[in-house]
Amino acid sequence: MNKLYPAYLFIGAEKEINEYIDTFLKSILCKNNKCNTCLDCKNIEKKQHALIRFLQPEGQYTISQLDIIFKTIIFKLNIDQDFFFIINKADLLNVYCANSLLKSLEEPPQGYHFILISSTKDNILPTIASRCIIKEFRNYNSENNILLESFINLNINNNDIIKKIESTKISEHEIPLLIDQLYQYWSDILKKSETENITQKLIIANKALNILDHSKEYYPMPGSAKIFIRNLMLQFLSILN
Ligand SMILES: [Zn+2]
Repeated sequence: MNKLYPAYLFIGAEKEINEYIDTFLKSILCKNNKCNTCLDCKNIEKKQHALIRFLQPEGQYTISQLDIIFKTIIFKLNIDQDFFFIINKADLLNVYCANSLLKSLEEPPQGYHFILISSTKDNILPTIASRCIIKEFRNYNSENNILLESFINLNINNNDIIKKIESTKISEHEIPLLIDQLYQYWSDILKKSETENITQKLIIANKALNILDHSKEYYPMPGSAKIFIRNLMLQFLSILN
């Protein structure tokens, strides 16, 4: 399973995000590979899962509305348990509410995770955004797909790829999810080439997964996302040699 982070910020259309979150939660809480039929899956769909708490603001968020978070996280989870707070309309967290959450977002007790949702990035306080792994749904498709494609079609001209990387607007907060997506892609290729017995692809997929594994040890510092991507790409290109 992919590594889980303390806090995520999903930005984009509500419907698209909700579908994504459904699958995301099932991939973690269903013991049967997102089967859609077990009690965990059913409860995720009904938004009634015991390990998920959905928060919806009444107008703006109030401190007392967030109380449930602080009352919940004092309970220690089992070592293999994960608990999720889904905070809808995170742009409606005012400064006081946001401040009360900062510490929990940054270093929640073992097993607790936050998923903040907003239709726009504009009204999200920078203190909140900087503590979250950000996934932009609408922009993601145009901006980051360029990068994803580059890593997948490794036979493109070297210079073209570097130019593409220079022209994207990726930030360091978006890197972990890009890596996760790449990881997913190459894992699928690996499985496929194992079943279809394609040795050359198998070797490339193995090497790609190795590089991605190592990349998790040096996630970029603020402002160095492009350098990170560039280095990663150079490693990927070396697979072919
Ligand atoms: Zn299930």
